Amino acid sequence: MSITNSITKLLNIKDKNLNFNENFLEERKIKGKRCLVIKGYLSNSFEYCPKCGCLNDNSIIKKGTKICMIKINKISELTSYLELTKQMYKCKNCNKRFISTSNIVDFRCRISNNVKIAIYNCAKEILSKKLISRLYNVCDNTVQRIFDTMFNNEKVYKNSIPEAICIDEFTYKNKTMAFNICDATTGKTVDLIKDRSTHNLDKYFSHYLEEARLRVKFVVMDMYKPYVGLIKNGFLMH
Ligand SMILES: [Zn+2]
Repeated sequence: MSITNSITKLLNIKDKNLNFNENFLEERKIKGKRCLVIKGYLSNSFEYCPKCGCLNDNSIIKKGTKICMIKINKISELTSYLELTKQMYKCKNCNKRFISTSNIVDFRCRISNNVKIAIYNCAKEILSKKLISRLYNVCDNTVQRIFDTMFNNEKVYKNSIPEAICIDEFTYKNKTMAFNICDATTGKTVDLIKDRSTHNLDKYFSHYLEEARLRVKFVVMDMYKPYVGLIKNGFLMH
């Protein structure tokens, strides 16, 4: 088994864009405490630019890296971090820069999703916020924020979407491109989404229950590459 496979199994994470080499482990003092730091490298491959949607015919180039410290669950009772070197990119078509993303941590977040799941699970127990924050080495406010997200997400779960939908974008406030979903049979608007970026649409459709998404049989749209990707990746159909 490769080092990458062993570590991803050990950490209970799944991301084919993550890589580790033989010098992956370091012991470090962080805030006066002995901690374990696992070092990894994250890079994505892009079929199209996530900013402007153009096809990647060598137009997306690597442009530097950024190191992010991500809190992961404790290993043998030691506070542990994933020190992720994230590849950065630049699109020669729109000149915009962007960074590798991973499903193990939310965009711009420093706490891994596995830690959040562990904290979510504490919500089922009668444990004080103070105790949970001590167990997972996060502050009280973080625990509160994670609980709030959990309850907010539950509120926005959607359980129905028409069998045939039309999707398209429109200019919003003269600057950004917004996204419109309507019922292809009745022509009625189902929803409007302020930002049509791939990241935001993925997040939006993840709020639909899988059974609802499976019921969609027809999608009318133009062949804008990110929309094709959105459907291919199963956000609407499987
Ligand atoms: Zn671009």
